[in-house]
Amino acid sequence: MKKQGHPKGLYLLFVTEMAERFSYYGMRAVFTLYMIAALFTKDAASEIYGYYTGLVYLTPLLGGYIADRYWGNRRSIVAGGLLMALGQFLMFLSACFVQPAIHEPEGMIDPAIDNQLTVILMMGGLFFLILGNGFFKPNISTMVGSLYKPDDRRKDTAFTIFYMGINIGATLGPLVCGIFEGDYLNPTRFKWAFLCACIMMLLSIIVFYLLQNKYLVDFKGEAIGLPPTPNTDPDGMPAKPQEPLTRKEKQHIAVIFIVALFVIFFWAAYEQAGVSLTYFADQQTDRHIFGWEMPTSYFQSFPAIFVVLLAPVMSFIWETLGRFGKEPSSTMKQAIGLAFLSLGYLFIAYGVKEVEPGMKVSMIWLTGLYFIHTLGELSLSPIGLSLVSKLSPKHLASLMMGIWFMSTAISNMLAGRLATLYPDGTTKTLLGFEISSLYDFFMVFVIMSGIAAICLAAITPILKQMSKD
Ligand code: GLN
Repeated sequence: MKKQGHPKGLYLLFVTEMAERFSYYGMRAVFTLYMIAALFTKDAASEIYGYYTGLVYLTPLLGGYIADRYWGNRRSIVAGGLLMALGQFLMFLSACFVQPAIHEPEGMIDPAIDNQLTVILMMGGLFFLILGNGFFKPNISTMVGSLYKPDDRRKDTAFTIFYMGINIGATLGPLVCGIFEGDYLNPTRFKWAFLCACIMMLLSIIVFYLLQNKYLVDFKGEAIGLPPTPNTDPDGMPAKPQEPLTRKEKQHIAVIFIVALFVIFFWAAYEQAGVSLTYFADQQTDRHIFGWEMPTSYFQSFPAIFVVLLAPVMSFIWETLGRFGKEPSSTMKQAIGLAFLSLGYLFIAYGVKEVEPGMKVSMIWLTGLYFIHTLGELSLSPIGLSLVSKLSPKHLASLMMGIWFMSTAISNMLAGRLATLYPDGTTKTLLGFEISSLYDFFMVFVIMSGIAAICLAAITPILKQMSKD
């Protein structure tokens, strides 16, 4: 059989999204550090961070709706990108004006220092970043699907390749922006990190804008991502939005909602990376390699690096299984993703079983967890995008992408709550279960994602039936 390549448009979307994710993750990596260097206490900074990471994934609902109804994907991507560049620029300005305000060693913020303008600029920056992501993220993902015939078997691989771009950006962004990390003595140094994020965002949009007409076409060679053709009634007034949904379309939408519900459990456990797993890396993991102590934050780039390394392997596995007609369905892949997540936590739970508070364990455990989680992520996340693209009615494709990302928004908010169960010497309870050790804590996620995996796998035949055309 002749090996079919992918359309060139995929690589344009790959590069555009790679630069945007560079900007997003680069800024995110230094954001809390910036806040605690001069502006807020750790608790307040974590709270703002939680709201930010939650809200960036909520606005895709709005961005998806506007694209489907008025703007089309292309215009939404450009508008979203420009809004985000403005957001990063305001972050840059904020850091230009910041004044050192922390008294060491107590770590108190000096109330006499006026950083009000800095905070206002920062909040403005966050506002535009949240809004911009809403226009950018669902639409770039929808466009990947639009390059192919609705039922093209290459879609899962296409989204996996695209996902690799996301994670090249997610690996490089923190590394580059991290160079410009400031501290309480020199908080203004962070401005260069934000400027880097701003420049990459602009580059992303420039590349997209210049090359869109050349490469963004569907399998028939027709331009994709343009505004919908206006529906007008006989008087030339806008007609009622769209034809009512058919029964099949409603069923497809129901599948997206059901799977999105399960996916909440995935990201809520996965996103512990930024919170509880970082505490674990900091306090309970021996980070020495040949005498060098690895910074705690480096662990956070492990999943992104593993995605880049493992994405081609996973694509190959799906394609090979597909050739023999043995490829699991997209919903089954979501269940497999959840199962890997559970397995990753089981691995680390085993590693910390006998560990007393204050003792440090080998890096193997956290590294192994991230490796296993990445297998799960690759099984779930790009395939989830592909699933949404396959099942969405064409005129609602971007809105449905927004709904898909809404589960990430909910998860990010939930992740922070679950992280408060991290053992601190006291006994905590969750649904009547006592959590007093690291082992108990990790078992919460083993059970949570394990149950979700089993339930989803059990209803997969029904979902498969509902997904049929
Ligand atoms: N890490 C991926 C990205 O940034 C997936 C995000 C998500 O859906 N939670 O695009």
